[in-house]
Amino acid sequence: MTQKPYKILVIEDDKAIRTLIETALEEAQLASISAYNGASAVSQVRTQNPDVILLDLGLPDMDGIQVVDEIRRVTINPIIIVSARSDDADKIAALDHGADDHVTKPFNVDELMARVRAAARRVEFYSGKTDTSTVFENGGLCIHYDSMEVTVKGEVIHLTPIEYRILKLLAQNTGRVLTHSMIIRDVWGSLDQKSVPSLRVFMTTLRKKLEQSSDGEQYIQTRIGVGYRMAPLENR
Ligand code: CA
Repeated sequence: MTQKPYKILVIEDDKAIRTLIETALEEAQLASISAYNGASAVSQVRTQNPDVILLDLGLPDMDGIQVVDEIRRVTINPIIIVSARSDDADKIAALDHGADDHVTKPFNVDELMARVRAAARRVEFYSGKTDTSTVFENGGLCIHYDSMEVTVKGEVIHLTPIEYRILKLLAQNTGRVLTHSMIIRDVWGSLDQKSVPSLRVFMTTLRKKLEQSSDGEQYIQTRIGVGYRMAPLENR
């Protein structure tokens, strides 16, 4: 079986652990790149766009939570925290800041690889990596990425640029709950707690516009206190 060309970023300052993970990734036929500190990790995320990120919280130059924040400014691809038991409080904070999963050192290599594969599959599924089409379809909703035209049951919906960006982000992650922070970071580029109420206003308008033209079809679902998700619907 040939693997999809996933690229995994290993952020770890301990050379022995890094080598252990890199060897396991190689055996699993997954490409890896690595970073020894937070600054280089953030720059690699920017320039290399890795599919999955493995992050050691105890780095020499930056606080692990800050690394999670910096990465989340750039990508919503999965972050798996690989941390020592002494970092348990930080691990919880890291998950709150948008990390997706965690393993504790010393970890079982097979388990770590299983988590990496699961994360990579999610990326493939939600990013439409295998789908080169420029049209997104879900139920009666259709987004033409090239022309930025959105239709519901063939009827054109007029969206503001911000509404369009939110819709596109949700569409590219259909089925997955995106937290308020993820959406805000992606759409506005920075996180400010005051942004959450303004995101709610945008979401209300966006949903109203989509639902006006549908048969009461709920494209966007709310997870109270968490965020939003595009519901996967049957195409028709
Ligand atoms: Ca470390």
